[in-house]
Parts: sequence; structure tokens; C-alpha cells
Amino acid sequence: MTYEIYSSGPAETNSILFYIETSPLALLFDAPLGCVRHWEKRLAKLGKSLGALFLTHSHWDHTADVAKAKKVWGMPVGIHKEDLENLEKPGSDGLPMMFSIEPAFADFFVADGEEKTIGGITLKVLHSPGHTPGCVCYYLPQFALLISGDTLFKGTIGNLSFPTARPQFMKDSLKKVLSLPPETLVIPGHGEMTTIGKEQDIIRRFYG
Ligand SMILES: [Zn+2]
Ligand SMILES: [Zn+2]
Repeated sequence: MTYEIYSSGPAETNSILFYIETSPLALLFDAPLGCVRHWEKRLAKLGKSLGALFLTHSHWDHTADVAKAKKVWGMPVGIHKEDLENLEKPGSDGLPMMFSIEPAFADFFVADGEEKTIGGITLKVLHSPGHTPGCVCYYLPQFALLISGDTLFKGTIGNLSFPTARPQFMKDSLKKVLSLPPETLVIPGHGEMTTIGKEQDIIRRFYG
């Protein structure tokens, strides 16, 4: 079982690839600008193709390469339904974009508590509204790892001032995420990795 992280685009957004040696399919989480070119080379070298692309939310810095990924790999794309509109109509969330983005489409929705297994990798969906209405985190128990998107970062939480943010839900979302085992590794949408244990005081720090 292996994962690789690649940061790209103007916001240095993380895209994360997961695979197990015995499966021809890998999973990708988020598709920032420039990531397809990188993963295309890596997957060719590994002799694998993409089984699915899972999005943590619809902000442009996480979705700029979704349409391109679809053309290259044709894999299904999953997102929470409350963030669908901004994927189909980039910029409809009111967040200013630094460049234009090709509209993309989802093939399936991810919903809270749902479990999926693709390419021998099982993930559990944790809906974590706050930063956007359809923010999700993906928990991969085999890897003892959480993809936290822009919900939880090393030492901080996602921005709650954007036009479609839902600040009133963030505290409960953080509680849900922090209930995972403390040793769980966290790969955020930006910046360095952390663990659930190291971020246990984050609610107190932001909510008193
Ligand atoms: Zn975001
Ligand atoms: Zn982001």
C-alpha cells in the first residue's frame, strides 16, 4: 500500500494518489492545476490506471484539472452533491478565479457514512460542511489516514469567509473528524501532513 502527494497550481493544492501493488487501479483525490501531467507520467511508470477521482470540495484550486483528467483516464468522478454546481459551472460559488476552468461533471455522489472499495482500497466518507456546504473528508482505515481537504490543516482550519461557506456547521464537522483514532495521519488540501492527535486542541483554539 502506497500513497504519493503532489502539490500544484497557484494555491499549491495537494493531490494524492493511493494504490496497492496487486491492483491495476489507483485512486486520486483532488485535481489541482497541473496535476494531470504529473500523474500521467507516474501512472505510466507504475503500469496502473485510475479507478476513480474523489473530490474533497468544488473550489477551483482543487478541481481545475478534473475535465483534463476525465479526457486522459475516463475514470468516474465523485463529489458531494452540495458542491456539484460549482464543478459544473466553475465560479458559480462567487470565489474569484485566477484563470478560467473547463466545466466538469460528476459520475457519482459521495454521502456521509458511505463506504466504497475500489482498486482494493476502502474509504469512508465524512461529510464536513463549513468551508463549503459539500466539503467531505475521506478516511482510509487500511492506511490509518484521512484526506481532510480544506476542513482541517496542520494547526488551523479551513477559511469560513468565502461566499458559500457554512461557518455554523464547522464546529460539528471538526468534532466528527477529531473522533477518529489519534494516530490517524492527516493529509490536508494544502501544506504539510499532521495527525488527528496533534490537532486535538483545534476546536478549543478556534471556538474557545
Ligand atoms: Zn477550498
Ligand atoms: Zn484549497
